[in-house]
Amino acid sequence: MARASKGLLSSEERELLEVIGTGNVQKAGLLLGSKNVRVNCLDEHGMTPLMHAAYKGKANLCRLLLQHGANVNCNEHEHGYTALMFAGLSGNKEITWMMLEAGADTDAINSVGRTAAQMAAFVGQHDCVMVINNFFPRERLDYYTKSQGLDIEPKLPIKLAGPLHKIITTTNLHPVKIVMLVQENPLLADVESLGKCCRVLDLICEKCMKQRDMNEVLALKMHYLSCIFQKCSNFLKEREDELNGLLKSLLKGRDTDGFPVYQEKFIRECIRKFPYCEATLLQQLVRSIAPVEIGSDPTAFSVLTQAITGQLGFVDAEFCTTCGEKGAEKRCSVCKMVTYCDQNCQKVHWFTHKKVCKTLQVHEKQDMEAAKVKKKQEKKGSFILLSAVFKMNEGNISNATSLYVLLLKQKNLIQQLDHPAVR
Ligand SMILES: [Zn+2]
Ligand SMILES: [Zn+2]
Repeated sequence: MARASKGLLSSEERELLEVIGTGNVQKAGLLLGSKNVRVNCLDEHGMTPLMHAAYKGKANLCRLLLQHGANVNCNEHEHGYTALMFAGLSGNKEITWMMLEAGADTDAINSVGRTAAQMAAFVGQHDCVMVINNFFPRERLDYYTKSQGLDIEPKLPIKLAGPLHKIITTTNLHPVKIVMLVQENPLLADVESLGKCCRVLDLICEKCMKQRDMNEVLALKMHYLSCIFQKCSNFLKEREDELNGLLKSLLKGRDTDGFPVYQEKFIRECIRKFPYCEATLLQQLVRSIAPVEIGSDPTAFSVLTQAITGQLGFVDAEFCTTCGEKGAEKRCSVCKMVTYCDQNCQKVHWFTHKKVCKTLQVHEKQDMEAAKVKKKQEKKGSFILLSAVFKMNEGNISNATSLYVLLLKQKNLIQQLDHPAVR
């Protein structure tokens, strides 16, 4: 098919672009059936209908356009934007995933040299960054399930490809979660299988670093997973209680504050052992972690997660204390200071949490007391402020009050408007 030229659109094609804006899938479907509509037509800026739909966050229209043969890697846009970049900018995770599944090139760059993941990060769409950085097509793993060259047997038994792919695409990199995923799958949890997975992960890591479009993020993730698998294998060789022993080591908190020292040291060691010491990403990580004392923020886990998934902020209580899973809502009923996904995660953590639970409870009380005192002081402060404003307005109460409200708004103290003088 001849290359579409920019801006030369039939009236039906113009109508299609308009319909995409409204999100009417049925109408778009009818238009795409017309012989006057080319699915990869270009508007004045070199945007295809798929780019428009991705940018506007219309998932159903994206799906429809892909079914009609939309080219996911078209790069006729005036600034070199691709459909994946538009998906990332829109912040729609589903569309971002769809573009990747349709074969979008994650390494394509725009006219100022930015990839889709970098653009999404720039506008704060961290969920999309996470989707892009953790995408790994199953075919890339299936490659290792076939004998290559002189190999007698494939490097990865076909039965391991599914479970390993599940772990490769996970976005929660908490070591406890990864060990739980290994433990869950009887196919994975033996020394021989773990060894095979380690080798394949190391090979993918090497490939990521040596290919023309180097992918440090993916390489680091593969290396990190390989380190955890190796650790699992070591524990299985030595101990009878299998992986529970490893989980305990990873979760055990120190006596003073419950901080999991072994876990912190383990993650730091994984990062240090990354075999490509010239990698920019590695140097950034080492710079962020090296000056931090063990037990202080940021933890190695948060630095690593931020590097690999683009995810920010671990201070929110919504992450599970045990396995790092997002959306944990159950709190320890005694101290209310730790959150868990479910009873299982709480049970696994209790052997070490019980030592600090009481102390945390005291802390929580102290925190509440401190908050009360602060509130009192703020109230006192606003009363002084009100008196001053009142004096300035020479007793004009309505003027003074409105000025006071304005000041409060500015100071974000609006919740204090229950002051008797204002009511
Ligand atoms: Zn959990
Ligand atoms: Zn507790």
